[in-house]
Amino acid sequence: MSGDPLFLEPFWMEHAASSAVLISGWHRMSYTFYDKSFISQQLENHVRRVHEVAKNAVTKGKYVLFGVGSTQLLAAAVYALSMNLSSPASVVASSPYYPLYKFQTNYFENKRFKFDEDTSLSSNSSYNTEANVIEFVTSPNNPDGNLKEAVSQGPLVRVIYDHAYYWPHFSAIPSPANEDVMIFTMSKLTGHAGSRIGWALIKDEQVYEDMNTYISVSEMGISREAQLRALQLMKAILDGNGTDIFDYAYKKMSYRWKKLSEIVSLSSRFSIQEIPPLFCNFFEKVRGPSPAYAWVKCEREEDTNCNEVLRAGNIIGREGSLFSDEDRYVRLSLLKSDDDFNLLMDHLSKLVAEENGAK
Ligand code: PMP
Repeated sequence: MSGDPLFLEPFWMEHAASSAVLISGWHRMSYTFYDKSFISQQLENHVRRVHEVAKNAVTKGKYVLFGVGSTQLLAAAVYALSMNLSSPASVVASSPYYPLYKFQTNYFENKRFKFDEDTSLSSNSSYNTEANVIEFVTSPNNPDGNLKEAVSQGPLVRVIYDHAYYWPHFSAIPSPANEDVMIFTMSKLTGHAGSRIGWALIKDEQVYEDMNTYISVSEMGISREAQLRALQLMKAILDGNGTDIFDYAYKKMSYRWKKLSEIVSLSSRFSIQEIPPLFCNFFEKVRGPSPAYAWVKCEREEDTNCNEVLRAGNIIGREGSLFSDEDRYVRLSLLKSDDDFNLLMDHLSKLVAEENGAK
């Protein structure tokens, strides 16, 4: 049950013509640095427009930097924020958190930064420190969909806000995000995870330059084909008043959450996270949850491995420990195709029916 966002496939089938790309053989053959920029100004302008429509981020006064998926930008941000420090930075995240932060930081570890697994941080308590700290904050969170803030506090704390899911699809947008380093991705906006396009909105020029250097050194720029496809998708999104994709995605994801909630409400064995209704800046009203994932908890004392319990019912999730939490939790993806989602609902209904029949 991965985060492959195929739930938008039917939207793109409805917009097949406006989102199609045809690239002639002679077009844009050069290395991207020959025209002095890695990225077309057009693409950057469209990204700013999409944020304006979604009302989810302030782009004014921010540099825009593209990367090979947001994955590359997460690494670039750690590199940039750990430059020229008097002592190495500890990289942290409060649990449950997206596992890639730890995998990537450990993998790329060098003398300037290290992932700190010993300081276990939780979302509901703060961590005061005098040390150099880089905190990853995923908001809304993967796995539990809740809006999250940094928990580290201190003069040398720097934060990377991963806003992959901060779109009306998945969450209320209480106000436009306006942090110093914010990361977004096509993968969760349009569902084109395979195009590997993400972007960062960065306030500080030096941080922007240092992240840009990371991209140049590791990739010499971003694929022109990916940029052209991303541009076409952005154009298609911005057709008309530009709100269709958000209406579509919110409707679908909130329907999925309601279906799931109905089934889980019949169970005392399983529960799912609570996400409070919030005022949404985009819809201009209080709206309910529509998260990308269900964070399922097995409530029975003996069900310490919730993934096994679900697997016995033919449901494949990701175990809680992967997100640095207990295995009493499992993450289920709600982002997949309609067929996958319907199968998930069938299998879960069966498990709950068995539970109730056995009472
Ligand atoms: N951040 C979060 C929180 C994610 O869930 C994901 C993908 N599952 C990513 C980043 C990576 O996305 P991308 O495809 O842009 O590399």
